[in-house]
Amino acid sequence: MNTLRRLLTGSHEHTESRMSEHLDEELRWFARFRLVQHLAWCEGCSSMYECLRVTVGGLRSMKSQQPAPAPALVDAVIEQIHREQLDPDGQ
Ligand SMILES: [Zn+2]
Repeated sequence: MNTLRRLLTGSHEHTESRMSEHLDEELRWFARFRLVQHLAWCEGCSSMYECLRVTVGGLRSMKSQQPAPAPALVDAVIEQIHREQLDPDGQ
């Protein structure tokens, strides 16, 4: 039974090494099947996968929420550039 389970679900090490690819949806169907089967019975790997999933999700959401420059700041910079072009000596 252990040999069959290992064949169908993979080892802890193998599962850990493929978690990132699974999150990025890069695994082929059998590798994905094995990983999902392993996570279904292994509490340790399942907890680790959940932590990784939450962390990666948080990082992705931070990346997509970078604020645009404040309009007032952009306007002030453009205004300063115009002033310097009109009066390069600053007088
Ligand atoms: Zn495991």
